Amino acid sequence: MKMAYTTRMLKLYNTLSRSVEEFKPLKDDQVSLYACGMTVYDNAHIGHAKKYIGDDILVRVLRWDGYEVTHAMNVTDVGHLVSDEDTGEDKMEKGARKYDMSVWDVAHKFEGQFWDSMDAVGNDRPDVLMHATDYIPEQIALIQTLEKKGYTYQIEDGIYFDTSKFPHYFDLSRQDPEKLKAGARVEFVEGKKNVSDFALWKFSPKTEKREMEWESPWGVGFPGWHIECSAMSMDAFGPRLDIHTGGIDHIAIHHTDEIAQSEAATGEKFVNYWVHHNFLLVDGQKMSKSLGNVYSVQDVIAKGFDPLSLRYLFLTGHYRQEMNFTWESLEAAQTAYKKLIAHVRSLQQEPTEAVSAEKEESYEQQFIDSVNDDLNTAKAIATMWDMLKSDLPAGEKITALSMMDSILGLQIFKKAEEHEEVLIPQEVLDLLQEREAFRKAGDFTASDEMRAKISDLGFDVIDSKTGSQLKKK
Ligand SMILES: [Zn+2]
Repeated sequence: MKMAYTTRMLKLYNTLSRSVEEFKPLKDDQVSLYACGMTVYDNAHIGHAKKYIGDDILVRVLRWDGYEVTHAMNVTDVGHLVSDEDTGEDKMEKGARKYDMSVWDVAHKFEGQFWDSMDAVGNDRPDVLMHATDYIPEQIALIQTLEKKGYTYQIEDGIYFDTSKFPHYFDLSRQDPEKLKAGARVEFVEGKKNVSDFALWKFSPKTEKREMEWESPWGVGFPGWHIECSAMSMDAFGPRLDIHTGGIDHIAIHHTDEIAQSEAATGEKFVNYWVHHNFLLVDGQKMSKSLGNVYSVQDVIAKGFDPLSLRYLFLTGHYRQEMNFTWESLEAAQTAYKKLIAHVRSLQQEPTEAVSAEKEESYEQQFIDSVNDDLNTAKAIATMWDMLKSDLPAGEKITALSMMDSILGLQIFKKAEEHEEVLIPQEVLDLLQEREAFRKAGDFTASDEMRAKISDLGFDVIDSKTGSQLKKK
């Protein structure tokens, strides 16, 4: 049920302007949203979960506000290099060596793990899913357009984008080109004209055969990483889109390069709102293999946690703030999450009264205002608890909770049901089974006696065509 809220008032921080702006889509009711997806060469970790939960919340808020959202996401299943400077190892081949599999199998395996993680933390799947390997011709075509317009040059290593020809190159990152030059790394690709120039197409090494390589007008090789997002988002939405999301680590290079390629090719403004998610630290440190603190959603489950309490934990922070994960913080989140489910269960057992919905609406309005205020989920959760602690009648609390959870996606009603099944005493379940046997045998007197016994234990038996169910009184 949707109330008469003041809707469509989303305020969103735009990295491009470094300020919170009122969101206005290109088309009245429609929102195009492109999210940079995973490079599927290793396990997704809880830092990824945080980022995609943030995207999921944004989509849910937009939908609540009445927009028709198309959420597109790419999967980077083509090799690109470990370093942002177009040097170093190929990520997919690194994964293939590590797991002793073909690059294609590695991509398949870790994409599966990624979706398992996303489903477990309650994220809705994107509407449009694009794999980089399915869009090689589109990427080549885009590079050809850039070549025709004079933005590219060829060196021994590949085709590069000349960033000095694109005057707005530093608009998103606000980097100082002079400082960038001074800090240039030793591993600078030979022949590159500017430090910030980046590969559009890389040639396969002459001495080795790559598992993933394609023919192109310039020679056998593989696309640079950035070009796939420009080519695929254009395929999904055309030259312009409303929102593009990613991690803050993508601002300086990946997204900056996406803008350069896209706008140089089309002459139009590529993205109106850039949304960036901040990092997750673990025990106060950056996640790293050497520290042994890279945890996956599967690790969280293996330790006995409900992955949705991880979602709860992330929603108590803000997507633009760095968050520090500790097992203690997850423990606390799980306790709160369980309390929430217990509230749902006890509210459902209270009688519903018809009272004016004014108060309930004011909590809901507060909640909606918070999530529309640059996705302030922490404040929204605080409002949810205030509402639960208020003197509103049970029925109204349930109505408000169900609206709130449609945005938070914590699945508390589903969990309350699951939880309730577990709480039916074995004695009651045995009696129900006996009753079924009497019913099948046509002994309705004995069957009714069983029903009475079950009733004495606090449960109603509800018969339907598909069988009998128990409901707590
Ligand atoms: Zn991307």
